[in-house]
Amino acid sequence: MSESSLSFAVTVNPSPRTAQQRAAILEKPGFGVHFTDHMVAIRWDKDTGWHDAQVMPYGPISLDPAAAVLHYGQEIFEGIKAYRHADGSVWTFRPEANGARLQRSAARLVLPQLPVDLFVESLRQMIAVDAAWVPDQDEASLYFRPFMIGDEPFLGVRGAQKASYYVIASPAGPYFAKGVAPVAIWLSTDYARAAKGGTGAAKCGGNYAASLLPQQKAQEQGCSQVLFLDPVEGRYLEELGGMNVFLVYGKTNTLVTPALSGSILEGITRESILQLARDRGMNVEERQVSIDEWKDGVSSGQITEVFACGTAAVVTPIGQLKGEGFSVGDINAPAGEVTMSLRKELTDIQYGRLPDRHGWLVRLG
Ligand SMILES: *Cc1c(COP(=O)(O)O)cnc(C)c1O
Repeated sequence: MSESSLSFAVTVNPSPRTAQQRAAILEKPGFGVHFTDHMVAIRWDKDTGWHDAQVMPYGPISLDPAAAVLHYGQEIFEGIKAYRHADGSVWTFRPEANGARLQRSAARLVLPQLPVDLFVESLRQMIAVDAAWVPDQDEASLYFRPFMIGDEPFLGVRGAQKASYYVIASPAGPYFAKGVAPVAIWLSTDYARAAKGGTGAAKCGGNYAASLLPQQKAQEQGCSQVLFLDPVEGRYLEELGGMNVFLVYGKTNTLVTPALSGSILEGITRESILQLARDRGMNVEERQVSIDEWKDGVSSGQITEVFACGTAAVVTPIGQLKGEGFSVGDINAPAGEVTMSLRKELTDIQYGRLPDRHGWLVRLG
């Protein structure tokens, strides 16, 4: 029997939220605050491989205090959404890409590789029990947070020989409660999020731990996110703490994003935006982009729009870039046309309002 044909034992939550409680949460879900009634857990150990796949009531997990994750940060995660279409059906977006990325992250963090079809099945299992938690308002979704930890109780420094994979899910409202509005971002020159040869390309909690202090400094400067430069020369754009970044050269119909450098996270939204831009005949460039190119291009008017993208906020216009002693752009200018039309096209595909011409959607329920 292949590991991916593991069957799930289902324990239904004996005291789920009532329909009324759920409706109150779904009316104003926020982001990452409320969780559904169930979760998925799958165990792994070196001798048995993947086993003991379960759907169980959402609740605390118990860890040995010596578990590897608590000491050496052996953790990876994913972020992927379920979207409700107008006919009530529930779909997700490019889950094989997330499953493959989880495997690449696992390889870097010396965690076991979850078969991609088991990853997709784990999302389907969640929807089988918690479909009622997929909101139906415009721009709302159910955000899945699959993650994996090394939980062998052992303080020696090596990859854990025991690991657990979990999926939890959280209803998410529209990221921008008052409509999509440009944000200001802060250029971090004192900190990098990832090192050359480090874990920047893996989706792991450790990268986020390293970004919290610069993120806090950005917020102190009135910025909602931080922009990181390459860790070697401190000259080329990498990404925001949790989103990839794009520049639009309006006059030449060109879309530019930093090439994957080994320390940039390979966003699935990034790749999808690149495809949609190519489809509409834009010139698309993945290359090194210096911070001076951004500053000069915005000042000269060649760069007409800048935006960030990721699963959680989809596409976010960047109105202003600020840093030590400088500021470019105008936070009060309206969101750019190219930004908003790429955003609309992507969300229209995800919500089933446009044909899925690339076969990106997978039905979950
Ligand atoms: C998850 C993530 C992104 C965005 O990836 P998507 O697949 O588009 O959601 C970008 N940067 C970092 C650091 C991330 O963790």
